[in-house]
Amino acid sequence: MRDFGNKAGVCRQCLNQRYGTSLLPSDCRYSTYSMLCPGCNQMHQIPIGFRFRGKMKIILKK
Ligand SMILES: [Zn+2]
Repeated sequence: MRDFGNKAGVCRQCLNQRYGTSLLPSDCRYSTYSMLCPGCNQMHQIPIGFRFRGKMKIILKK
């Protein structure tokens, strides 16, 4: 099942790569602070959840 909570804690760009989707910043809910993304090892604001449209994008990809 999809991990809508983004437990992996990776940034939006890494999520897009992982899911083959095209999440926009407005599709995500972000943490307040930037964190080190374990996917690309850069400081990013990590999505902590997704808005409805973001969830749809992930669901529709597979
Ligand atoms: Zn990343």
